[in-house]
Amino acid sequence: MITEKKAFGVVGHPIEHSLSPIMHNAAFRRLGLDYRYEAYDVKPEGLEEFLKLRHTPPFGGLNVTIPHKVAVIKYMSHLDKLAELVGAVNTIKFESRRMIGYNTDCFGFIRALEETGETIKKRRILVLGAGGAARAIVYGCLLNSAEVVLANRTLDKAIQLAKEIKEKIGKMVLVVKYSNESLKDAIKETDILINATPVGMYPRSYESPIEKNILRPNIVVMDAVYNPVETKLLREAKNAGCKTIDGVGMLVHQGAESLRIWLGIEAPTDVMRKAVIDKLAAD
Ligand code: NAP
Repeated sequence: MITEKKAFGVVGHPIEHSLSPIMHNAAFRRLGLDYRYEAYDVKPEGLEEFLKLRHTPPFGGLNVTIPHKVAVIKYMSHLDKLAELVGAVNTIKFESRRMIGYNTDCFGFIRALEETGETIKKRRILVLGAGGAARAIVYGCLLNSAEVVLANRTLDKAIQLAKEIKEKIGKMVLVVKYSNESLKDAIKETDILINATPVGMYPRSYESPIEKNILRPNIVVMDAVYNPVETKLLREAKNAGCKTIDGVGMLVHQGAESLRIWLGIEAPTDVMRKAVIDKLAAD
C-alpha cells in the first residue's frame, strides 16, 4: 500500500483545457489514494528546468502533451521501445535519478477499440492523419498484425512516415491521397476507419474529415477527437449504419496505462470516463 502523499501532473502549453487532472484525480479518489494531479503550463524554453525540478521526490509521474511530446525525449535517461518507435513521449516515470519515457497513446487506442469487442489482427485500417496521434495508432495497428492504409492532408508526410516504418519494423503501409476520390476507393476495402486529425474538434465541431457520402455501413468508425464526444464524423457514420467508437476511450486508457506504469495499479476506467464525460457536458 502506498501511503505517502505524491504529486502527479501533465505538462503542456497551453494546458488549461486538459481533462487529465479531472480524470486522474477521479481515479485517485475512487482508489482512496491521497495523491494530487495538476496541470503545468510550461513554455518550450522552460521545459528543461521544469523537468529538473520535478525530478525531486516525491513527484510520482508526469504526462506530457502538446507541444512537448517530442522535445522531452532528449532529457530521458531511457526510452521504452514503443516511445522510441512512435518518436514521442506522453508519460514519464521518475526512478531515483532516472527519467524513463513511455508512449501510452498506442495502448490507449488498442484498448479503446478492443473494449468494444473489435479486434485489430488482420483488419484493414484506414488512418486519417500523420501527426502524433496517427503515429501511435499506426504503430499500434502494425504491431498487432493489422494492415494499414494512410491518408494525410500533406501527402509527403504520409509517404515519409510509411518509409520510416518500413525501415524501423519492416512493415508496409499503403499511402493514399487525402481526396474524396481516393478515400472513396480506400473505404471500399476498409474494416476500420480512424480519424487522427483534429478536424471536428471543438470549437469547429461542424467539420468532418471526410464527406459523409463515402461512408459505407458495416465499417467501424473511430475518432481520436474526444471534444465533442460525438463528433460530426461519428454522427454521420452512425446514420450511415456504421459502428462508432468515440475518442474518450483512447484518452481514458492512455491515462490508465500511465497509472499502471507509475503505480502498478489497475485504474478505475469507468470512473475516469464518467469524469471526462461529465466535464465535457458541463463546459
Ligand atoms: P498533430 O500532431 O498536430 O497532427 C495533426 C494531423 O492532422 C496532421 O497529420 C495534419 O496534417 C492533420 N490535419 C490538421 N488539420 C487538418 C485539416 N484541416 N484537414 C486535414 N488534415 C488535417 O496532432 P495530434 O497530436 O496527432 O492530434 C490529432 C487529434 O487527435 C487531436 O484532435 C487530438 O486532440 C486527438 N488526440 C486524441 C487522443 C486521445 O486520447 N483520444 C490522443 C492524442 C491525440 P498535415 O500533416 O497536413 O498538417
